[in-house]
Amino acid sequence: MSRNVYLPYSVTSEKAHIKSMEQYREMHKKSLESTAQFWSEIASQFHWETPYDVNNFYSYNFDVTKGPVQIKWMEGATTNVCYNLLDKNVRNGMGDKVAFYWEGNDPEDYSKITYKKLLEEVCRFSNVLKSKGVVKGDRVAIYMPMVFEIVIAILSCARIGAVHSIVFAGFSSDSLAERMADCKCKVLVTADSVYRGDKLLNIKSLCDIAMDKAKNFGHEVPTCIVVRHLPRLYRSMNTSNGTNGSNSDIIDLHSDVPWTDGRDYWWHDEMDDVEPSCYPVWMSAEDPLFMLYTSGSTGKPKGVLHTTGGYLLYAATTFKYVFDYHPGDVYWCTADIGWITGHSYVVYGPLANGATSVIFEGTPFYPDNGRYWSIIEKYKVTQFYTAPTAIRALMKFGEEPVKKHNLDSLKVLGSVGEPINPEAWLWYYQNIGQERCSIADTFWQTETGGHVITPLPGCTPMKPGSASFPFFGVKPILLDESGKEIEGVGEGYLVFNKPWPGMMRTLFGNHERFQSVYFSKFPGYYCTGDGARRDEDGYFWVTGRVDDMLNVSGHLMSTAEVESVLTEHPDVSEAAVVSRPHPVKGECLYCFVTPNHGVTFTPKLSSELVKKVRESIGPFAMPDVIQHAPGLPKTRSGKIMRRVLRKVAINDREVGDISTLADEHIVEELFKNRPEKS
Ligand code: ATP
Ligand code: MG
Repeated sequence: MSRNVYLPYSVTSEKAHIKSMEQYREMHKKSLESTAQFWSEIASQFHWETPYDVNNFYSYNFDVTKGPVQIKWMEGATTNVCYNLLDKNVRNGMGDKVAFYWEGNDPEDYSKITYKKLLEEVCRFSNVLKSKGVVKGDRVAIYMPMVFEIVIAILSCARIGAVHSIVFAGFSSDSLAERMADCKCKVLVTADSVYRGDKLLNIKSLCDIAMDKAKNFGHEVPTCIVVRHLPRLYRSMNTSNGTNGSNSDIIDLHSDVPWTDGRDYWWHDEMDDVEPSCYPVWMSAEDPLFMLYTSGSTGKPKGVLHTTGGYLLYAATTFKYVFDYHPGDVYWCTADIGWITGHSYVVYGPLANGATSVIFEGTPFYPDNGRYWSIIEKYKVTQFYTAPTAIRALMKFGEEPVKKHNLDSLKVLGSVGEPINPEAWLWYYQNIGQERCSIADTFWQTETGGHVITPLPGCTPMKPGSASFPFFGVKPILLDESGKEIEGVGEGYLVFNKPWPGMMRTLFGNHERFQSVYFSKFPGYYCTGDGARRDEDGYFWVTGRVDDMLNVSGHLMSTAEVESVLTEHPDVSEAAVVSRPHPVKGECLYCFVTPNHGVTFTPKLSSELVKKVRESIGPFAMPDVIQHAPGLPKTRSGKIMRRVLRKVAINDREVGDISTLADEHIVEELFKNRPEKS
């Protein structure tokens, strides 16, 4: 594994918020030692209807043996997140600033919306929700493509104190039904259909099935509001001017969309009848803002609950420093709003900073493999934030698609979702960042609300594959199996013994599961479920889920380590490694390998890989099985579901809950592909 260190972009940018490691260390120290003062200075930049008390700024208990786990920030203060994101910016003269550029699936479809217009639309939709009986504390489910209306729906909920629960619009009707029933939503907001690449998805039909199924779980969804998205795509395709037109231009597809009168309403009809202003509801800092299910990589998804004040502070602050955001920048995060990354870093973080962002509806491969790079060029994107899975997928096509575009505007590149293997990191750094951009490998979770371990672009010297150092207010701790803190160099469970403002407060309606999943293994600590290593320079290396650790003949190693060696082979596109019980060694390595485009998987490749792992890590790490994987089972957010691979390795077809998988068929294929003798 490469241990080279790469210099941050402060070398060329003197404007960076944090210019040196010295400055970082000083601020980090203050954030831990004078926590209330540190965060209250940040809080003072926002509007509080009832002020917070600096002397009683936060409180918590992480120790289940001493009572229920609880986390509170600025309790008693009141504010409104939507007010801080929109009204405040408009009042500060940013009304005409573009909040979002929208880039449709089809490159001919594009549009933009200013802060002023966004505020007006949000006020209207807040009034629509109120007219459907939604009041403070009610849940609103959102199942939508990446269009302006999803942002409008989110902020409208925040404005009137409703709790949004977004379900990524790629999930099955079963997943949607379960999640709607779990949160007992009063309204479902959706769209008629959407194109993803050249595939048409009839979202509303799927919602109808889900609303039916939700009844079996004991919940009837009273109201469904539907954005008419498809006809306006047709229209803008025809006129090619890419703006959203008046309703009269829209072809009436009403008859093609399944409809239940009395329950279903068109978004545009409802918006016509309401006032463009709506007074915000002042929320207590600890009132819920939203709930969101985790990706389901390791088991049944958990309904994480985030609250108002702390989440606002944390999303805003991480966005500013981790992307080194400055006015005038154009920021683009490719994550779907249905994931936490989309919540914190498409919607809340950027708007809290008055930023201009890009929202992209399509896929990186449509109409061709250079789509991401063409969007960066078109909008002169300065910060680009994506996932290792996308980088690896695009690497397969080589440098040609990249070279066709001018990427000179880029300053900061981000990565999130999985450990990024050094091979992919270097490709990203060299080809996309042209060796002059900083890479922020951001480690965090749905539960953490925002980045917790990450380099800062202006100051942190980067080591490919390391998330490096903690963000302000965060102190990572490594524990050994017995719960003892590991000092200095070492590897163990990544935990925290103190909250930061953006941390989750509970699992919706299930505080007991919250305590047992996160706080019971090591009383007094929040357990991330991930393992990490601290190196001799104090850098943190997240090694993957603790369940994915391997113990081969007494040697502990992480799957990430073996995977990064496999993907260094020029013919390998992706690899996933799991452990399989072994009578002698205890556990052995079972590797799944996807070759590059156009490469055939041969016994020669297989033995080269075995040799490579043996040489790079050691003889004990020699894989027992290398299996050809035409594809890997991934969650819809692009993460490899290793628990399914563990089942394939032992030929056990009881694979558990795979409803969050992007493509269930791949599982069957992997079972068929097992090498016979293993
Ligand atoms: P579930 O909790 O349901 O199993 P999930 O953990 O995949 O799903 P998320 O909250 O979306 O759901 O993902 C957080 C996890 O993603 C982290 O715990 C970690 O394993 C992984 N992760 C995210 N970013 C990074 C990163 N930069 N480096 C290493 N791992 C990362
Ligand atoms: Mg998780």
